[in-house]
Amino acid sequence: MKAMSSQNKNPMLNLILFGPPGAGKGTQSAKLIEKYNLLHISTGDLFRKHLSEGTELGLLARKYMDEGHLVPDEVVIGMVDDKINENGSVKGIIFDGFPRTVAQAEALDALLTKKGNPVSAMISLEVPHNELRERIKERGKTSGRVDDQNDEKINTRIQVYEKETFPVAEHYAAQGKLHKVNGVGTIDGIFDNISTIINSL
Ligand code: AMP
Repeated sequence: MKAMSSQNKNPMLNLILFGPPGAGKGTQSAKLIEKYNLLHISTGDLFRKHLSEGTELGLLARKYMDEGHLVPDEVVIGMVDDKINENGSVKGIIFDGFPRTVAQAEALDALLTKKGNPVSAMISLEVPHNELRERIKERGKTSGRVDDQNDEKINTRIQVYEKETFPVAEHYAAQGKLHKVNGVGTIDGIFDNISTIINSL
């Protein structure tokens, strides 16, 4: 049995990349996993993969995703738990698009604390809503995502973010782990600002 895993000398770098839809989480995650050699867990990508493979989970998620609503917490948490366990020992994990509710955040905290490697920091990309709508519609031209192509669905997603997801930032602020970054600017400029935060952890 492993003794005192919470006194791990080389704690994992477990980051939550946070922000509304269209804030640039996917773009910045791709750069971060390369620089810091981390496992990327994007719940949106995982659901889309299930959907493309026609799994039961994908079919279940689809009806929520297509309308811009959240997939039920227990489904998301189970999927993330499986993904973490599948990957065994890694240097750290970037959570992208998760947690999206306070219940998901509490479940993630419990899961990671049990493994002796709690969340290191939440990095929140701050982008004004008008800019988000433009970015999502632009992405919709090539992403093929149903939820990127319709004003009503985009509005629903932003409203769901405000109501269900925004409180997750307060959850991590209360733990002293919230770091805000201006999400408007060049991709490399934003990445440098995120890297500065990570290097100071
Ligand atoms: P994303 O690619 O992160 O924008 O996610 C696309 C859609 O997948 C969301 O609008 C939700 O329907 C679903 N989804 C992704 N992540 C979560 C999550 N953590 N909790 C609930 N639903 C999620």
